[in-house]
Amino acid sequence: MFTPSGQHISAQGTGRYAPSPSGDLHLGNLRTALYAWLLARSTGRRFVLRIEDLDRVQEGSARRQLDDLASLGIDWDDEPLVQSKRTHAYDEAVRELRAKGLVYECFCTRREIQEAASAPHGAPGAYPGTCRQLTDEQRAEKALDRPAALRLRAEVSQWTVCDLFAGRYTDAVDDMVLVRNDGRAAYNLAVVVDDAHQGIDQVVRGDDLLSSTPRQSYLAHLLGLGDIEYAHVPLALNRDGKRLAKRDGAVTMARLRDAGLSCADIARLIAQSMPLRPVRTSTGPHLPETAQQMLEVFSPDAISHDPWTVLDPLMESSCAAC
Ligand code: GLU
Repeated sequence: MFTPSGQHISAQGTGRYAPSPSGDLHLGNLRTALYAWLLARSTGRRFVLRIEDLDRVQEGSARRQLDDLASLGIDWDDEPLVQSKRTHAYDEAVRELRAKGLVYECFCTRREIQEAASAPHGAPGAYPGTCRQLTDEQRAEKALDRPAALRLRAEVSQWTVCDLFAGRYTDAVDDMVLVRNDGRAAYNLAVVVDDAHQGIDQVVRGDDLLSSTPRQSYLAHLLGLGDIEYAHVPLALNRDGKRLAKRDGAVTMARLRDAGLSCADIARLIAQSMPLRPVRTSTGPHLPETAQQMLEVFSPDAISHDPWTVLDPLMESSCAAC
């Protein structure tokens, strides 16, 4: 676990990386995966993977993502968990919440939700509870028009979590969607159920997900699941200050390797951004070239709290090589 100063002590839990197979991992994703692996392994934890394929999936990308992680020296315990094979577990969680009176059908369209949520007294972006009090007759009538999504009947309006970087962090909890109206489990439900199933007690991921964390933690609390310690790490940005994306040029392993970089070059580039200090080897000190070498010099205290602005990875790699 992390102490308040960010020092770590040995623990027997499990950390994870949970990519969505919607395309190749870019430098920012790879860096987050390395942080997750380093924070898990440096605290004596197991490390597992999860393929979050409930949304858009690109053919072959899960395999390429695993290969890219392995090529940096990231190793994992167990077979990666695949969310599309876990429907029974999400159904079971919904049954449990329903038995506690915490689930209701919602027939709102996206447009109706946007309009209601932008009303003067609504919390920004929060579902205003339109379908919360429908009578059985109203529900039956609406069900003739469109299939229902299932929402949580939240009993709090905010929740607080502890994060290694953000400290005590409080954000809104609303009647989040548990099951979408196409019958698929929503991300917030799947992530909570699967983290518990995989024995996760440490979640390291990009800080774009920090604002979803209180609602996930609240849902875990309702399901009686264990506490998780969070570390939301800064994202990689492009030269315009926007979240790095594949369209930003040579930022995936495949593109960088096509341009002549080795896996060691890419590892050094990421190590420099974290930043990590040089590792001593028989050939002299140099920036770490594998996950294992990163582990030798890794300390959570030294993680940069600022986003990584990726200008031109090909230029930067020649610098990281010096
Ligand atoms: N699948 C999500 C992503 O690739 C990460 C979810 C999580 O780590 O909880 O952005």
